[in-house]
Amino acid sequence: MKNLKELVRPNIWNLKPYSSARNEFQGEASVFLDANENPYNEPYNRYPDPLQWKLKDKIAALKGIDRTSIFLGNGSDEAIDLSIRAFCEPAADAVLSIDPSYGMYQVAADINHVACRKVRLNNDFSLNAGALLQAVEANTKIIFLCSPNNPTGNILNRGELYKAINGFEGIVVIDEAYIDFSSSPSFLKELKDFPNVIVLQTLSKAWGGAGIRLGMAFASPEIIDILNKIKYPYNINQLTQERALELLNRREAMKGELSEILNERTLVETALLELPFVQRIYPSDANFILVKVDDPNATYDYLVRKGIIVRNRNTVTLCEGCLRITIGTPGQNNLLLKALQTRTL
Ligand code: PMP
Repeated sequence: MKNLKELVRPNIWNLKPYSSARNEFQGEASVFLDANENPYNEPYNRYPDPLQWKLKDKIAALKGIDRTSIFLGNGSDEAIDLSIRAFCEPAADAVLSIDPSYGMYQVAADINHVACRKVRLNNDFSLNAGALLQAVEANTKIIFLCSPNNPTGNILNRGELYKAINGFEGIVVIDEAYIDFSSSPSFLKELKDFPNVIVLQTLSKAWGGAGIRLGMAFASPEIIDILNKIKYPYNINQLTQERALELLNRREAMKGELSEILNERTLVETALLELPFVQRIYPSDANFILVKVDDPNATYDYLVRKGIIVRNRNTVTLCEGCLRITIGTPGQNNLLLKALQTRTL
């Protein structure tokens, strides 16, 4: 890896971040007349903790990682955007992603006027690290690898991941939004050995918290400091900090939901494979399946008419004919299956 100073944009490296009122004193205090808040309407009259330490301590304990290695964002989408802003010079630098993959890498790059190059996965959606590394150019600062990948659902081969990380001098972002659904281990435990890796996770999927917008980035304290420097001072609001703590306290309940979802995934797969217009279902390590059908657009439109919304991925690279279907509750899955089973062409 290049050293961090070489990778970070010079203006970001030299940036003096905004110093919020609550950052400027040490010790205990009980009278806060420093932030121009209304003294009434406790507790929401007060700005939230800009570095969300209580929540980070909880996450640190849960994940077995130091709290200084955690950045919290308004969804992991914020961490994707901030990574690009920290490392990529607009109109000059580039990021690299696999294709197909999560669409926000391209959008965040476009917003930042940063080129997003893409390397096709193999036909079975596996990663070829050699081909990926061949696409690296002098201005490539970040590689985005999503595992389990969206919309394909597969986990990327660990050996190929190592090859990609070890063969690249810049930053590798491993997006693990769906890792809780996978039987493969997270990359988190190995973070210490890879100072150029940022691992993304989220409360939006397995934890059932998409509505509160809480994404997590894990990386070396030096990288986390850079992300903290450029985030909005109070990027995680008080309500989210409170609700996220509550969500993280229901880990056992979450695990129960998770195993039901995985169970349902098998049931849905089995039932779908019996339908004459279903050609194949790709192996999934996530809470969704990619299903190849004879007539994706007609099937999609039919389901919409029935009030059931899935994701049409027919025009996505390597996904011709495919619908991406999220696993719902048993009741929701039965409605989907009943609709498809009674479909007349
Ligand atoms: N990464 C992947 C692979 C995703 O599929 C999503 C959400 N669709 C995200 C990140 C964004 O998640 P968040 O809600 O944490 O912004």
